[in-house]
Amino acid sequence: MVGRSRWPFVIAAALIAAPYLTATAQDLPQKTAQALANKALSDDWSYKFLESLTSEIGPRLAGTDAEARAAAWAVTRLKAAGMEVHTESFPMVAWLRGVETGAIVQPAPQRLVLTALGGSVATPPEGIEAQVVVFRTYAELLAAAPGSLDGKIAAVTEHMVRTMDGMGYGLANPIRRQGASEAARRGAIAYLLRSLGTDNHRLAHAGALNYANGLGKIPAAALANPDADQLERLSALGPVTVHITLTPTENKDAQSITVVGEIKGRETPDEVVLIGAHLDSWDLGTGAIDDGAGDAIVSGVGRLIAALPEHPKRTVRVVLFGAEEMGYSGKAYEKAHAREAAKIVMAGETDFGARRVYEMRLPAGATDSAFARTIAGLLPPLGVLLVPEPAQHGGSDIQEIGADGTPIVSLSQNGLDYFDIHHTADDTFDKVEAAELAQNVAVWAALTYLVAETGVDLRSPAKSAEKP
Ligand SMILES: [Zn+2]
Repeated sequence: MVGRSRWPFVIAAALIAAPYLTATAQDLPQKTAQALANKALSDDWSYKFLESLTSEIGPRLAGTDAEARAAAWAVTRLKAAGMEVHTESFPMVAWLRGVETGAIVQPAPQRLVLTALGGSVATPPEGIEAQVVVFRTYAELLAAAPGSLDGKIAAVTEHMVRTMDGMGYGLANPIRRQGASEAARRGAIAYLLRSLGTDNHRLAHAGALNYANGLGKIPAAALANPDADQLERLSALGPVTVHITLTPTENKDAQSITVVGEIKGRETPDEVVLIGAHLDSWDLGTGAIDDGAGDAIVSGVGRLIAALPEHPKRTVRVVLFGAEEMGYSGKAYEKAHAREAAKIVMAGETDFGARRVYEMRLPAGATDSAFARTIAGLLPPLGVLLVPEPAQHGGSDIQEIGADGTPIVSLSQNGLDYFDIHHTADDTFDKVEAAELAQNVAVWAALTYLVAETGVDLRSPAKSAEKP
């Protein structure tokens, strides 16, 4: 608050001390940022980009030929958008979906809608048939005694809570990530969970799991919400037997590809303003909101900045990360870019769909600064609030470089309905509103350009001291 109240005097002092430095010259970056945002709002390039990606490439499971085709497609697009483009490959274990079927065998035979979790091992080809033990909360599974699930299929039917900011997903994530190992620890031979999703459609939500070291790996799948309800109802009446067959396979020699487009800085090209999204997607839908929308947003920002009469002072780097969904992207990027870590002056990621941005959070080093006041002045017409609290999480692609000290920005999007279609067959292009996508491009363009042109230092004092 002190800094804010002092600011008018700083402007006044600057104007008095430098009469020949006109207000126009001082405001130029701000005016250009404003112009970029306005241009973005009336531009459908990103929307068309997303239409093409989701139609001409479609699903883009990490480490597959489809992801490689998406990368080649993106190279062409970013070059055409005026960027210098290269790719960065890294090894990964690709997981490939096989057959996936489920059914209640007793007491009332009927099909179950489910989908294997990414990374799940297969059942035997003939499947697994066993009594299911239903836990209405994850805590109940964790409280179950060792051996209490011997020979059983464990099913956790806890509901994920709908929130604007995705907090409900974050809190429910261990049910999908760690549930299979927790069930195996107690003797279970397979694991089911209610999809981490907020819809009530008969569509299961995919997503990756992580097996704990030293425990047996058991097959795991997510049930559509209504099918989890069905298991709850029937299990309340008596024993329920379920049959599941999952036949995924692995390719241990796969490669993922990250595509990078740059607008080289005109004064300090080694200083990098990084904005990213992930190019891989789950395979059930066409990866429109997750995360084709993010790819379209950051690529659109790169295109607008590349088209300016002169490049900004710093380099703007658009990164379309490979293999985010399988958990490789952030670590791979950190490893490959360890030597330039101190030169990445800002990192931001958009991976939360295509709805409007409503809040922006800056790195701790810039929350009360002249830069913050400049950007805050641009945001209200775009419907965005600059929140005084610093950014905590930027996203999984930039998590590792953020932990190493790279300043992270975070833009919150309206996520109220994001988890209705996230990771389902319903994640398709028709769900995206062109005007909302354009608003995202406008906000990211203004922020990215200002950081690149003004040379602002976003590092918190503590981090700057650690890494001069
Ligand atoms: Zn995503």
